[in-house]
This record gives sequence, C-alpha cells and structure tokens, in this order.
Amino acid sequence: MYSNVHATIGTAFVLGTYSITKDETTTYIVGGLLGFLSHHYADRLGESKYPNYKEMAIHEGIPLLLFLLIAFLSDLTGFYLLGMLSSNLMDLIDKKAGLSLINRDKYPFGSFFPCHRKKPLIDFDLKTTKILSWSSVLLILIFYVYELVK
Ligand SMILES: [Zn+2]
Repeated sequence: MYSNVHATIGTAFVLGTYSITKDETTTYIVGGLLGFLSHHYADRLGESKYPNYKEMAIHEGIPLLLFLLIAFLSDLTGFYLLGMLSSNLMDLIDKKAGLSLINRDKYPFGSFFPCHRKKPLIDFDLKTTKILSWSSVLLILIFYVYELVK
C-alpha cells in the first residue's frame, strides 16, 4: 500500500486514541504504536504501480500535500504527523527513507519487516489504487472538519 493510505489509517488510530484517552502522552505512545503496527495489516492490500512519475505525482503527491496542509492547519498537528510517520515507518526503513524508489539498483528494497516478505492478499488495480489515495485524503479532511465543528 502506498503512503497516503498508511498515513490515514495511522492518523485514525492516533486521533482515535486521543479521543478515547484525552491524554497526549498516552496518545503518542499507544496511538503511535497502533499506527506503526497498522502498516503490517494494511500491506496485506497490494497496490498497482503507477505507469510514470507524473501520474504518481498527481495521485499520490497532491493528496500528500493536502494531508500536510490539513495537518498544519489543525490544532493537532503533532498527532497527524505522528500518524503519518508511525504508519509509514516500516516502509521508511525497508525502502531506505525513499532512496529505493529513486534508485532501486543502488538501494534495493529491504525485507526486515514480515509484511514486506509476503505477497499481498489482494492486488488492487490502478483505478482502485488512485481512488484509495484520494479517499484517504478525503477522510483526513473529514477528521479535520470534525475537529472544527466539535
Ligand atoms: Zn510496506
């Protein structure tokens, strides 16, 4: 799964933890841990490769920028960033902080985490991959609107 879907699942766990506990320290520990562990299960869903960097920039880059914009507009910026980073940490480690995406020959994908050694249960087609990326940022927007009206 690409990073936007991971970020949204991780952020849902972090914000959910905060809404239950109302405690920042507990949220950073428990929410961060749940976000981190969520990566393993979300990776059971496979994505399609983008045919080129332009399509990837449109369907992954723009939602990522919107995620960051919403995170910085929010009063809970740290929680959004925690959700994003904790849920993507397994990929950041195994993909050498993104260097593997730029030059796979020089920086090959690692397989330290079990989810990167297994084949996904489902491989979504490209259209579904794009829909999931945009749906993720839509969900983040809903979280933010909920925060505003609460
Ligand atoms: Zn992964």
